Amino acid sequence: MNKILEEKYPYLSNFFKTAIGQNRLFHSLIFYGSNIYAQYLMALELARQLNCLEDGREDCNCRNCKWIRENKHPAVMTISKIDNKTDSSKTVISEEQVNMVLDTLVNSSDYHRVYIFCNADMKELSRCEEECYAEFKSSGFNPPQEANDEKIWYPSGINTSCFSTVAANAMLKSIEEPSSGITFIFLTSNKEDLLQTIISRSQAFYLPDKKTENYNTDFLQKYFVSYPLFKKENALSFAQSLLNYQLDNNLEPEYVIDCIQAYLLQLALANATNKSIINKIFSDIEKTQKSKQMLKAYIKEQTVYEDFAFYLAKRI
Ligand SMILES: [Zn+2]
Repeated sequence: MNKILEEKYPYLSNFFKTAIGQNRLFHSLIFYGSNIYAQYLMALELARQLNCLEDGREDCNCRNCKWIRENKHPAVMTISKIDNKTDSSKTVISEEQVNMVLDTLVNSSDYHRVYIFCNADMKELSRCEEECYAEFKSSGFNPPQEANDEKIWYPSGINTSCFSTVAANAMLKSIEEPSSGITFIFLTSNKEDLLQTIISRSQAFYLPDKKTENYNTDFLQKYFVSYPLFKKENALSFAQSLLNYQLDNNLEPEYVIDCIQAYLLQLALANATNKSIINKIFSDIEKTQKSKQMLKAYIKEQTVYEDFAFYLAKRI
């Protein structure tokens, strides 16, 4: 596995390595989270692992690994509104593009075919985007299009406006009746941005964006003013204002929970000598893990926040 991914997503890297080793990788995957370039890197790395002619080691230079790193492999295709176009539409993945993909599936192939569906633009990057791009480049992989005039290929999440219902529906049969040697990967910020019919036929994986030390937890201060004393009657308004903050700032609920976890860890450090507060803090940190599991089980964010808020109000 690629080192950057191993460091960033140790659990997922391990999971995928094992699944590929045992030939049990699901044929349709959804990656979701806010760092789409990291998702794109994961998709290419899976394509490399699936096609490597040797043992899949990071520095392997077999023909397939080399082509995938250069993003020129004939069987590993990025499908976006600006990549692998077969018609003149510029704002969507068109039905024609999907049909082109489906046509290629008719013939057998020696390769494991991987189709990566995302949104993408050629653009000048913000500072934050530059960081994501630099991390991707340092992995040794290349984007599907070279930079020109300072404009860089930059992926974003697929959604129902750039991947129409008609185009998505054209794919359903292939996703429903998978043939071996084919993997579809959809990259998105929020899995609810995809059609329910695709979600229900795919395995979804959350790729968190930032490492703990990078969380900006300042916004949480006002919510935790009275912590560890926290009144049960404030729980619902606490949950509602967290939800509002998340929606207003276009954040993932997982990210908000991670911020809470990071914030509680800071509190633990600041109160390291107070045993009863420490116990309360770590009990609440444990609860954040459970909140994340609830989100993975598709429980509504509001319910997750409320459940967490009532837990905060508990005395231990
Ligand atoms: Zn190789």
